[in-house]
Amino acid sequence: MTKPQSRDHEFGNPVCYEKQRLQEAFIDACHELNSLQSDQISAVITGDSDFMRFDDLLHLAREKKEQAKYVLLSHIEEHRC
Ligand SMILES: [Zn+2]
Repeated sequence: MTKPQSRDHEFGNPVCYEKQRLQEAFIDACHELNSLQSDQISAVITGDSDFMRFDDLLHLAREKKEQAKYVLLSHIEEHRC
């Protein structure tokens, strides 16, 4: 009985740690955006007249999410993982 060879360096490696890392970064960015959106909604609900202060943060969080998505998709395209 032969031991299965490690597939770590094969093309189409089923476990790509870089992809996992990029997925986590994308998920984190999504959570950050959601959390800011919730904060803004809460501010509106509680009558905080300064709820617009979240807009710049939301803009940055949205850009960060788009960037993380782009990097992840580029990696998948290039690496085919
Ligand atoms: Zn990969």
